[in-house]
Amino acid sequence: RGGLRITGLSKRYKGATDRYAVRELGFTVEQGQVLGLLGPNGAGKTTTLRMLMGLIRPDEGEIRIFGHAVRPGAPVLSRVGAFVEGAGFLPHLSGRANLELYWRSTGRPVGDAHLEEALAIADLGEALDRAVRTYSQGMRQRLAIAQAMLGLPDLLILDEPTNGLDPPQIREMREVLIRYAAAGRTVIVSSHLLSEVEQSCTHLVVMDRGRLVSAGEVGAIV
Ligand code: ADP
Ligand code: ADP
Repeated sequence: RGGLRITGLSKRYKGATDRYAVRELGFTVEQGQVLGLLGPNGAGKTTTLRMLMGLIRPDEGEIRIFGHAVRPGAPVLSRVGAFVEGAGFLPHLSGRANLELYWRSTGRPVGDAHLEEALAIADLGEALDRAVRTYSQGMRQRLAIAQAMLGLPDLLILDEPTNGLDPPQIREMREVLIRYAAAGRTVIVSSHLLSEVEQSCTHLVVMDRGRLVSAGEVGAIV
């Protein structure tokens, strides 16, 4: 039943450039692996992750997550959590209140052990009880990532979570990912910097201009 399997995935955006954003991409991620999706800007990372999340439809190919085919419009799998930039928060509420509001909106009770465990992993410290309007950009980002972790999804997808973070925050993010994966959960995290993924990831998929360049264990590639 495993993790995630992508085969023959292609996507071309209509209009302007008419180039493939992703072309004949294939890789697998086993349960418990932390996969770094690495490549320069324009490599096709965001397009790939948006197809994984069911937000856009591939032109060709198949994605299976935990044995289920991913299709746009189908209900998002409850076992998948995702961070994408620009999550909206209510500025006058605390970080905790925002996350609790989101949590209740998914139909689950505040006080649920999953919520507290996810907050412990995210480790936002005293900031959690401050109003979001006092947050730095980096803190907002960390709150959005905590939100993606709330249900402790078996697969966590993070698109460039360190964008806009400073070096200490990047180090903290690495610790957060390692703690998240420690319980055998699967993580996919994209980055354009090798230095950001080589220490927190077990495996790498390297992309360039829509295509797979290499894939394997971190030690075998780096
Ligand atoms: P990355 O995340 O690695 O930077 P993207 O998946 O965002 O790569 O982009 C891959 C290619 O697809 C780029 O050439 C980009 O300009 C193009 N692209 C991305 N999104 C769109 C879109 N909505 N419409 C047209 N072209 C797009
Ligand atoms: P990333 O590097 O994270 O993929 P981008 O800055 O490339 O982010 O893209 C930001 C937004 O602009 C995305 O929604 C993407 O789909 C869209 N976009 C990117 N490239 C193009 C393009 N060539 N034409 C139209 N939309 C694009």
